[in-house]
Amino acid sequence: MDKVQVLKQYFGYDSFRQGQAELIDHILSGGDVLGIMPTGSGKSLCFQVPALLMKGITLVISPLISLMKDQVSALNQAGIHAAYLNSSLTAAQYNKALAFAREGRYPIIYVAPERLLTDEFLNFALHTEISMVAVDEAHCVSQWGQDFRPSYLKIAQFIQRLPKRPVVSAFTATATKEVREDIVDILMLRQPMVVTTGYDRPNLYLEVQSPKDKYGALKDYVKAHEGQCGIVYCLTRKLVEEVCQKLIQDGYSVTRYHAGLSDQERRKNQDDFIYDRAMIMVATNAFGMGIDKSNVRYVVHYNMPKNLESYFQEIGRAGRDGEPADCLLLYGGQDVVTNQFFIDHNQDNEALDPLTRQLVMERDRERLKKMTFYCFTHDCLRDYILRYFGEYGSNYCGKCANCLSQFEETDVTEIAKGLMECVESSRQRYGASVIVDTVHGANTIKIRNYRMDQNPFYGCLSETPVYKLRQVMNHLLLQEYLWVTNDEYAIVKLTKKSAEVLSEGGRVIMKMAKEMPRSGKASGEKGKKSRKIPGTEAFSPKEESLFEALRNLRMEIAREEKVPPYIVFSDKTLTHMCILKPKTREEMLSVSGVGEFKVEKYGERFLEAIKKFEEGKEHDETEKV
Ligand code: ADP
Ligand code: MG
Ligand code: ZN
Repeated sequence: MDKVQVLKQYFGYDSFRQGQAELIDHILSGGDVLGIMPTGSGKSLCFQVPALLMKGITLVISPLISLMKDQVSALNQAGIHAAYLNSSLTAAQYNKALAFAREGRYPIIYVAPERLLTDEFLNFALHTEISMVAVDEAHCVSQWGQDFRPSYLKIAQFIQRLPKRPVVSAFTATATKEVREDIVDILMLRQPMVVTTGYDRPNLYLEVQSPKDKYGALKDYVKAHEGQCGIVYCLTRKLVEEVCQKLIQDGYSVTRYHAGLSDQERRKNQDDFIYDRAMIMVATNAFGMGIDKSNVRYVVHYNMPKNLESYFQEIGRAGRDGEPADCLLLYGGQDVVTNQFFIDHNQDNEALDPLTRQLVMERDRERLKKMTFYCFTHDCLRDYILRYFGEYGSNYCGKCANCLSQFEETDVTEIAKGLMECVESSRQRYGASVIVDTVHGANTIKIRNYRMDQNPFYGCLSETPVYKLRQVMNHLLLQEYLWVTNDEYAIVKLTKKSAEVLSEGGRVIMKMAKEMPRSGKASGEKGKKSRKIPGTEAFSPKEESLFEALRNLRMEIAREEKVPPYIVFSDKTLTHMCILKPKTREEMLSVSGVGEFKVEKYGERFLEAIKKFEEGKEHDETEKV
């Protein structure tokens, strides 16, 4: 067999995705690799396919029990013998698995890093042929990242003890330079082939809204996505409780997750979500690491997160199967305040010396600022994220709310000038809201205390609504006509670009949402899609009911097999089945994600369901005649 045959026969896919074939070929030729690919891009196949083609055993190191369990179930479902060795096994189970492993039953074994240097495991490893060590979530080796695991440091030591050095492959979605260097150094990769496939997740639809009534907006959104799995992220435990409660009252199938719950409850709630027993997970950022669930169809941020790194990681949990998924951020001004508070009171920083702490805080404020700008930009949201991570996208993706909404170019030079002149005349000493209030002519205690009511520009833009002044202020910050200091006072300062406007007659042009009856809403009406099933714009109501029927069958099988439904077949595979409506085993095999083993196991039942549906349809049609 070659790699393409393995891909088709076991996994049911016809072609490799970007980066996969190169990495697999290099591994098969005996070289080390480092694959840096975004979440959902298919890193597991990069080590699973060669593992099946190499002679000895592949050890996969993975940081979390849930990840191991998930991947081993998926392999078993595809007809591949695989096992995991970690602390979730009893001593008897562990010994049994090891005994099977010694007999060579498993081409792939997942092992927790803590186990590697134990006597039992070493005893096994030293007397068997290990052809590859694959390190999944390899960023865990680096202290730069957020998920550092000291036990990952044992991997290199373990490899050195082996009689023959295996191929070492490492995979991660984290692409910062420090982390990448750490992986190569600490895992002691030998001239690895490094493949980076970029940050873009083209199947994610991006949107930001600033609704007055956040819960109302969430409720509408959840309703539009009825029957789909989604995650709602909140900044605080309290909000998690509140939102969860409301959704339950509104009749949705919801569970929750945050650090304040007992281990047991967290585990149960997580499982409920993974097994589709609860469709919506409301959680803090504590939830998500180790979730390979492929059919999360939307991620809503009830609050703006602290930076784009977190945001990108969290929305990355949507649409892992490659099918369209939606990401909505519900921005509110309070989110900035809450995040600012977290930065100022971050207990992780307490151990740092004052200077380092200062630097860390400044860095965090800067990140928060960039995150805030994301919520206000009128340019392509995807492009904004890609640029943040140092990549160049095109400035039009066609799959974000900004690209799809109507903007008009507006000359805002007069407003911009008023704001800048106010900054200048008050000697660059105040924050953005004081400046906005001043030009608007607000009569508040703060303004009077600062004596801004005596500023020559006080009230110079009293005719312009405050929301518009804020929009222009944000645009000026975003485009660096102005900047804000990184300390707690966040003072607005002039830049070189402001001088061009103030003294050289430069104009400021800004994209503004076309005026709509309900003004002030950040992203208007666009992006409201009522489709129910992803990627099925072409689905007729009939096909939707077929999809439902297949989904129910999948649930039934998942219960029997005690695995999450998406491990039986992904949403993508079911969608493909609805389109192809296979009638024979052969046709069933041409569905993406249906391999030999699964066709053997479930093919009949799915063919039967499709047949029943087709007959029902004919019946309907004759009735119509
Ligand atoms: P990652 O570890 O990079 O986040 P996974 O390995 O979990 O991603 O894969 C995500 C999804 O993509 C899985 O459902 C997997 O079956 C699917 N997938 C991987 N490779 C392919 C391929 N070549 N064609 C179609 N689907 C694929
Ligand atoms: Mg993975
Ligand atoms: Zn776009």
